[in-house]
Amino acid sequence: MRKNIVAGNWKMNNDLSESKKLVKGIKKAIKKKELKNTRVIVSPTYVSLNAVVKKAKKSAIEVAAQNMHQADSGAYTGEISADMLKSVGVKIVILGHSERREYFGETDALLAEKVDQALKNKLEIIFCFGEKLEDRKNDNHFKVVESQIKNALFHLEAKPWKNIVLAYEPVWAIGTGETASPEQAQEMHAFIRNLVTNKYDAKVADNVSILYGGSVKPANAKEIFSKQDVDGGLIGGAALKTEDFVALIDAI
Ligand code: PEP
Repeated sequence: MRKNIVAGNWKMNNDLSESKKLVKGIKKAIKKKELKNTRVIVSPTYVSLNAVVKKAKKSAIEVAAQNMHQADSGAYTGEISADMLKSVGVKIVILGHSERREYFGETDALLAEKVDQALKNKLEIIFCFGEKLEDRKNDNHFKVVESQIKNALFHLEAKPWKNIVLAYEPVWAIGTGETASPEQAQEMHAFIRNLVTNKYDAKVADNVSILYGGSVKPANAKEIFSKQDVDGGLIGGAALKTEDFVALIDAI
């Protein structure tokens, strides 16, 4: 059965000591919670990964990297490989975030390579995608999401899908305070699950967690998370404060 997930993407926020403080606060706050079917993931910057992995030990918190290079190693100044992530205890990587696509030119083809590299290295992937505002205005949102998923993931066999989490993040809702309505989120999540069913089968589709991301906060989380095909959230702004992040875990 698929899991619910609350994942915090810290983006380029929090230096080393702030990262340690935040993970320590979350660890303390969730210590006595019965999380049952819910996974809690935090994603600090590269420089804090090792420290956060250590602080998260003996807790339910898992740690993800925000990106990764597609090559094994080599002359790629400033980049980080899958092996390097594994060497500091990271088992999950976020790929395809809209900020990577927008500001760093990451294309579906590049993301397909990164997906293969992550899976080859037995890393779990939180794969992000979502339409821009003009796509939604032009009623192209389903087409855009379908092609992002097909181009980066549908070359895979069914088996690796146990290491894939999908994150639908409409670009117009990220960091804008604008949220997709629970109905809009459910409509898209059901569409995505149906795509996976048609390409693979109902078992693969039922087992994949599909997260919603885009201005999720304590005030709107419960309603969004309550939708049938929404299995939690990928959270930016509200993941930076212990109380807000913990409130989102409580909202699942
Ligand atoms: C994100 O960056 O993945 C995100 C959803 O950000 P925010 O929650 O701030 O909109």
